[in-house]
Amino acid sequence: MRFPTLRLYGRLLRFLRPHAGLFAGSVILMAGFAAFSGLSLALIVPFTEIVLSGKSPRDLAQRHGGGIPTGIPGLTIPSGGTVDPTVTHDVSGAPTSPTVPAPVADLTHRALEGGRPPVGSRTPFEGPGASLRRALETRFYGWLAGRDRRETLGRFCLALFLVFLVKNLFWYGQSYLVVRVEQNVIRDIRHDIFGHLQSLSLDYFSATHSGTLISRVVNDIELVKGAIANGIADLTRQGLLLLVYLGAVLMASWQLFLMAILVLPPNLWIIDRIGSTLRRSSRVSQVKMARLTSVLSETLSAIRIVKAFGLERDRAERFQIESSDYARTMVKMTRAGSLATPLTEMLGVGLAVAILWFAGSRVSVDGQGAGRFMLFIVGMLSMMQPIKAIAQVNIRIQQGLAGAKRIFEILDTEPTVADRPAAHDVHGLQREIRFERVSFAYRPGVEVLQAIDLVIHRGEVIALVGPSGGGKSTLVDLIPRFHDPTEGRITLDDVDLRDLRLDHLRGLIGLVTQDTILFEGTVRENISMGRLGATGAEVEAAATAANAREFIEHLPEGYDTWIGERGALLSGGQRQRLAIARAILRNPEILIFDEATSSLDTESEALVQAAIDNLLRDRTAVVIAHRLSTVRNADRIVVVEEGRIVEVGRHEELLAEAGTYRRLYEMQFRDPAGPAEPAP
Ligand code: ADP
Ligand code: MG
Repeated sequence: MRFPTLRLYGRLLRFLRPHAGLFAGSVILMAGFAAFSGLSLALIVPFTEIVLSGKSPRDLAQRHGGGIPTGIPGLTIPSGGTVDPTVTHDVSGAPTSPTVPAPVADLTHRALEGGRPPVGSRTPFEGPGASLRRALETRFYGWLAGRDRRETLGRFCLALFLVFLVKNLFWYGQSYLVVRVEQNVIRDIRHDIFGHLQSLSLDYFSATHSGTLISRVVNDIELVKGAIANGIADLTRQGLLLLVYLGAVLMASWQLFLMAILVLPPNLWIIDRIGSTLRRSSRVSQVKMARLTSVLSETLSAIRIVKAFGLERDRAERFQIESSDYARTMVKMTRAGSLATPLTEMLGVGLAVAILWFAGSRVSVDGQGAGRFMLFIVGMLSMMQPIKAIAQVNIRIQQGLAGAKRIFEILDTEPTVADRPAAHDVHGLQREIRFERVSFAYRPGVEVLQAIDLVIHRGEVIALVGPSGGGKSTLVDLIPRFHDPTEGRITLDDVDLRDLRLDHLRGLIGLVTQDTILFEGTVRENISMGRLGATGAEVEAAATAANAREFIEHLPEGYDTWIGERGALLSGGQRQRLAIARAILRNPEILIFDEATSSLDTESEALVQAAIDNLLRDRTAVVIAHRLSTVRNADRIVVVEEGRIVEVGRHEELLAEAGTYRRLYEMQFRDPAGPAEPAP
């Protein structure tokens, strides 16, 4: 791994730290699991030597331990004890034991074990751990030896059962702990991302597709899960397993192992090649999945428009293009992946065949070589699995790191609008909000607001009017600092907004927008969001003031009625009045209405207008209104056109001026589709 990759991984591991205790516990259980896996593997030796060949374990114990199964008899055995293949093992492979009388065989063994090894006669089945192995065998065989074959078999079966029982208990325990660690880590990352996403400024969300963000929170975290808890856990588990199997194989025969090693490099090379192909196509498939999701989510969120404009076929075609593209990538990726298993298995089997060819002919079924030969073969085959798994851990870690990189990109994005270190507290508006030569551009060079000068006095209701796209919404968005001015400054009682605490500033402001944003939940929950912790009576008072009480009480479950996703079960006017109730409950000093009434019919507009009039009493407010009838009572009307303030005055004054306001007013008046305007 390159250095940045290591750093990335280190950073990822930090999420593991709070759960280090659990993880350590799981590692301990994994070690237990690995040990018992090795033990279960080693049982192949007595299985071959006793169950298959029918030899008495007492003989075998004596053979191994020189007949003294006490203390650590294995260690007292002369080193270099070996078996002359020409005697013990029938070269022809014919079974010999049942025909050889036990005492004779025993004698032969003793002679061989105690005697000097014939020069150059080491069998391929002797390993460096031979004395330890013999000690273990002797003890075990000593215990295994029953009065008769039946009892011996019974003991063997008991041992077999117990070993597998303990092994599986360890397995269960470790996988339980690993899942807990894994889910805790993922949960922490998810919480971090969600929290951080919300802290980011609006410019980030206009620049980043929400489908992409959703894919990061959902898919990339899933990838990270593969890399972190899962990857590390698997690495540890399979690593331990590999070590144990390796130990068993080395004990069985290190010479054969050396031979086998020669086959490993080409094997590893192939795994690596396949791995890199997989990694590449995994990246591609992520991108394609994100495209697929974005078509899906766009279509679902705009389903009304899709239906109304008859876009179903077009959307379906788009979806099919992305979907087929994704399917093709997945096939490609899976094809490479599918190659891995048969290839490695064939390599493994090739190896096994080679060994069988070389060594098999020197093993007799009953001789002590047989058990260890079996152990070697089974051990080698068993090793393939952890090796494969470790190779896959590597792939998963690589994929996870790619996901982690994208996640850290989010976590490392600084909100463009944030508190300065020494931000002031602010608890109210005393005198005024002042725009001083404020300019603003979403994209460098394209000014949406130009040199705006405007004073909003405390207790004043200012109406912003003007053609669509003129910059009204942008202007009011600067007050809660959704964006900061590109040039100039905005002050609240002579303090630059950027020097105020953001939470305090926003605490002063209530906002009602055109697309009323409600959340899935009850009526009561949605109103309470204006001020979390408000009492039931306060919520109802706010609903009354917003002219919403009557309709709420007619809902099937009153304030506890479920309003559906984004309030879909309510009408536009009802949604709007809930949003106003929310703002009333907040009881803010400064109110901002951004076309809060523009999507309403005349009747609900009258109701909402009355609610707004309630709300505006003795408050500082900026009201953007599409319909000029709603702004007539404002203290001042500000006309915004192409990013500039072109007129300021009261309704009558502006009508008299024959400027933009007059033009807009007359257009609405004349437009038969527009709302009926009562004469002023
Ligand atoms: P109004 O509310 O008066 O209709 P807006 O303030 O919404 O006008 O928009 C003013 C201009 O800024 C428009 O030209 C619009 O295209 C542009 N604009 C609005 N929001 C964004 C944004 N997030 N990114 C880039 N341009 C934007
Ligand atoms: Mg607007």
